[in-house]
Amino acid sequence: MGRVSRWDLVVVGAGPAGSAAALGALRARPGARVLLLDRADFPRDKSCGDGVAPHALDELARLGVGDLLADRVPVRRLRLVSPGGQEVATRMRRPTWVVPREVLDARLVQAAVDAGAVLERRTVRRLDDLDAEVVVGADGANGVVRRLVGAPRQPGHALALAVRGYAPSPPGDEPEQAIVMDASGWPAYAWRFDAGDGTSNVGFGMLLPHLQARGDAPKEYLHRRLVELLPGTEATRLVSHHLPLSSARPAPAHGRVLLAGDALSLINPLTGEGIYYALHSGRLAGQAAVLSPADPGPAYARALRAELGRHLRHTTALARLTRRSGVVDAGVAAAGRSPAAFDALVEVGLGRGLITAPLVGGMARHVGRRLVRR
Ligand SMILES: Cc1cc2nc3c(=O)[nH]c(=O)nc-3n(C[C@H](O)[C@H](O)[C@H](O)COP(=O)(O)OP(=O)(O)OC[C@H]3O[C@@H](n4cnc5c(N)ncnc54)[C@H](O)[C@@H]3O)c2cc1C
Repeated sequence: MGRVSRWDLVVVGAGPAGSAAALGALRARPGARVLLLDRADFPRDKSCGDGVAPHALDELARLGVGDLLADRVPVRRLRLVSPGGQEVATRMRRPTWVVPREVLDARLVQAAVDAGAVLERRTVRRLDDLDAEVVVGADGANGVVRRLVGAPRQPGHALALAVRGYAPSPPGDEPEQAIVMDASGWPAYAWRFDAGDGTSNVGFGMLLPHLQARGDAPKEYLHRRLVELLPGTEATRLVSHHLPLSSARPAPAHGRVLLAGDALSLINPLTGEGIYYALHSGRLAGQAAVLSPADPGPAYARALRAELGRHLRHTTALARLTRRSGVVDAGVAAAGRSPAAFDALVEVGLGRGLITAPLVGGMARHVGRRLVRR
């Protein structure tokens, strides 16, 4: 008879992916022995835009914590400025939330503990002393689990770096999420995400090879572009961090080790959003871990493919197409003219949307108009 492990599931990393893995496992099999490890104490900061998509709220509901952000201010307005200056500012079909990660992640960890997970502060450096049936690697962009299972490093063409800070919100009627794209370092953009409490999360990010090619000190350059694109912004608490983009992902399962969230390079290559994917993949990994403990990999890979496969193929294709900034100008112009195209753009950038007919049609019409004008 095989030896029984002490834990049904050990989760490395207690960010959104890790907490969702613990919650997903405990909802699928109440009473499962789940250990949640993180090198940090919570609450802890994490460099992020703090934008929480409506799809992430759906995931929270699936994890049984749908009221986790009930006290936060919904942000309904989105402003997009394309590299060529096309602009759209309108209300989204569903609101987003802007929640400092010190708040969001601590609440998620507490929910996992309330559901029965054991939380321990520990820096994981090897896997063979974890004493688990299944391990979920949810240790983020620069995590060790991915390296320890022999998965390849993130290639430079699918790696971005962004700096984030906090600044007072500009006076205005309604909180909004603003994204100002940068023609000079494209693909690159600055953001100002108003939390609705007088503070905004601000930042700027770009592809790492483009940044390195400039030869400037990375963080200083990112900060300078942030201020140039969002004039008057006086940001404090600046921190930079990598974003492994989903256009190049490792395999999700390596024997009985599953990767989730940033450790699986699940960041939208168009927008840099990763919290929704982290919650989603974490939940699926946790479920597979306790429902198919002998061989969780195929179940996890199947579930991921079924739920995100087409969307990830579409965003990868779009990321390639939008390397030409004119394509983005056409997309934003289309979104300004047609609510259906705007909704499609939001779905593909924040959730699990696909390239749709109204979006493609609107872009083609914009390009046609420009050609006629010329
Ligand atoms: C500047 C910036 C802005 C962003 N803006 C947005 C945004 O507005 N909206 C959005 O949806 N996404 C955004 N993202 C992406 C988002 O931050 C990530 O996708 C998300 O944090 C992924 O969650 P995770 O749980 O996979 O990893 P993380 O949140 O990074 O959590 C990983 C955890 O693992 C722990 N850990 C690491 N190594 C070890 C170890 N060896 N042992 C134990 N514990 C370990 C860490 O302490 C950490 O708590 C942004 C990213 C950046 C860098």
